[in-house]
Amino acid sequence: MGVLLSKPLSYTAISIRVVGLVVLSIVATATLIPTAVSSPGIPHTFADRIADLPVRSAVKTDDELFVPLDVVAPMPFLRSGAAESFHALRAAVIDVAGFDFLARCGDMLRVGNAKVLKLGTAFNSRHKKGEAFDYNQEDPRVLLVRESDSKGVRWRTYLLCERQNGTARRDASKCAKAALHTDNAGFVSGYVFDFTAAAEQFGWERIYAHAGWAKEPTKKEFWHYQLRLHD
Ligand SMILES: [Zn+2]
Repeated sequence: MGVLLSKPLSYTAISIRVVGLVVLSIVATATLIPTAVSSPGIPHTFADRIADLPVRSAVKTDDELFVPLDVVAPMPFLRSGAAESFHALRAAVIDVAGFDFLARCGDMLRVGNAKVLKLGTAFNSRHKKGEAFDYNQEDPRVLLVRESDSKGVRWRTYLLCERQNGTARRDASKCAKAALHTDNAGFVSGYVFDFTAAAEQFGWERIYAHAGWAKEPTKKEFWHYQLRLHD
């Protein structure tokens, strides 16, 4: 866990307080949020970030401390604590797999009207708490191996390592030679990084696919990782 300690926390923490359920247009948000930011004088306010985001209809936040991340995502924020675990995981991926897989995420913080997202309400709430991220499932180095147990179906995510000679920048032993029968790329033989295992090491867990995933790929949830609650 040395990487956790060696990673300086250089980002700016902000606090957003919104009382109750507030549904705002983006225009209203721009005028309201600055009055709700509790850390005046910081160079980047939440309003600054919001203005750059493709938020069209609604914004809602809970009383929570969110940390902006240097990540390409619709809303690149996680709550304090989750952000540290994310940074540690991101650094581990870079060190071993050899590329910055988590520089881009499909989704992270979610705000606004929950009715827009019909699937997995409980998991939406983890996004709303800033305790979940969806990785970039379009990355061509993602390799998915299906795993089943009594609770359902999940996928283990491997990443095809940048260097295919078994060496990594710091720890060559973690890029392992493997022969995988994947769901998304057929049979693959090469050096891979077990992203799921690394995520678990840093406090993140995957979730089971929703019923009906075989017919509706949006229910697979292999891209979703959330902070484990029991430790
Ligand atoms: Zn998700």
